[in-house]
Amino acid sequence: MRELLRVASGDAVDLAAVDPRSTPGLPDREVTGEDRKAWARTQVELLGVGLGRQQEMLFAGAKAPAVPAARGPAARRRVLLVLQAMDSGGKDGTIKRVAGAMNPLGLHIRSFGPPTEQELAHDFLWRIRRALPAAGYVGVFNRSHYEDVLVARVESLVPEATWRARYDEINAFERELADDGLTLVKVMLHISHHEQGRRLLARLDDPRKHWKYNPGDVDARARWNDYQAAYAEALSRCDTDAAPWFLVPADRKWYRDWAVAHLLRETFDTVGLGYPAATFDVRRERERLLGTTGPVKVNGR
Ligand code: AMP
Ligand code: MG
Repeated sequence: MRELLRVASGDAVDLAAVDPRSTPGLPDREVTGEDRKAWARTQVELLGVGLGRQQEMLFAGAKAPAVPAARGPAARRRVLLVLQAMDSGGKDGTIKRVAGAMNPLGLHIRSFGPPTEQELAHDFLWRIRRALPAAGYVGVFNRSHYEDVLVARVESLVPEATWRARYDEINAFERELADDGLTLVKVMLHISHHEQGRRLLARLDDPRKHWKYNPGDVDARARWNDYQAAYAEALSRCDTDAAPWFLVPADRKWYRDWAVAHLLRETFDTVGLGYPAATFDVRRERERLLGTTGPVKVNGR
């Protein structure tokens, strides 16, 4: 899936050429049966078990109380999933379904909204650096520093020269993270204009979903083509081997979850995880434990 969904590096990315309803990599109906959605949902649960195991190994590698000299690069390892999408593109749902399969103890989930006054007083990467996962954690960014070349560009929040310079700054930043043991997986959930309309309407039609609705989403929707152009440039300029971009067709939620779960599993595989060796003498500890006298007996009980 990493190969299949990776954006064509170097070339200009053409989002219009990727059908948001397509399902790249999904096995054919001989495997899935007629109900592809049910199949994919079950697969996500199965994948989740493996993901949970891999996450635990990552956590253990950083947590093991190894003697400092024995702490190799494994001790710095962390993984960061960056999710970007248009409004209602499915970032929240992906976190619920895919990150939800992992142990909350080792997760580090952050959402980025409009910068606060304090954040604006700093460089755009300042708040990002502060939100990075520590060693052993799986981070998930619900929006990210890419907003600073997306909404910032489309809404002219900064001069063009400023956002133009950011692609290189982002690449340098991500290179630095990779060198520091952080494995990045950047995913754009690609929905169609039509599907966004459907989802926003569904939010309006259901009082239980009003909290998800933001009148500003309609303004952003009106600038759909500008956003698509900004996304295309961000993906093509900032797809690097150190920090690849993946494009996930996301009109079908079950495919989206299945694809992202696969991308994460394959990413963990590239990290080469394993459980750390004990830093104590296991046999001696066993003897000590079994040799311990229990609580003092009273009246033979
Ligand atoms: P939501 O993800 O629905 O909670 O919305 C978050 C909002 O914050 C979106 O409208 C984003 O465009 C906005 N946002 C996130 N990052 C930035 C940024 N760096 N500059 C301006 N707006 C941002
Ligand atoms: Mg929103």
